[in-house]
Amino acid sequence: MAGLERVRGRGPGRWVARCPAHKDRTASLSIRELEDGRMLLHCFAGCAVESVVAAAGLTLEDLFPPRAPSPGGGRPAEKRPFTARELLDALAKELGVAWVLLADLAAGREFAEKDRRRAQVARDRCAALIEELRHVR
Ligand SMILES: [Zn+2]
Repeated sequence: MAGLERVRGRGPGRWVARCPAHKDRTASLSIRELEDGRMLLHCFAGCAVESVVAAAGLTLEDLFPPRAPSPGGGRPAEKRPFTARELLDALAKELGVAWVLLADLAAGREFAEKDRRRAQVARDRCAALIEELRHVR
């Protein structure tokens, strides 16, 4: 997609990229193309899709393919973009980071500013991932 950095393929119709809406050192942005052509964006740091789209110089309409009028008029079934397994993997990674930071804290070490910021990112990501997991059947 235009306007996104470090886009990497992760299987058919799936990519990860740097999120343009926050200072993203890892690739926090997941991109999925659904069978009907719609693009799903999800920033694991918790950016709203509108902010991601705006920062990439796109509009929300760019996420939707030109739609042919469907004879039945029915909407395609909504799918959650991520499996529970993927969300759990991401959650485990963030908890691993939090665990290291907590171990430092427990050992009486001072937090550097970057550790403080990373702890906040871990907190935000865990919250976003847990919220996402609530919607997985
Ligand atoms: Zn983001």
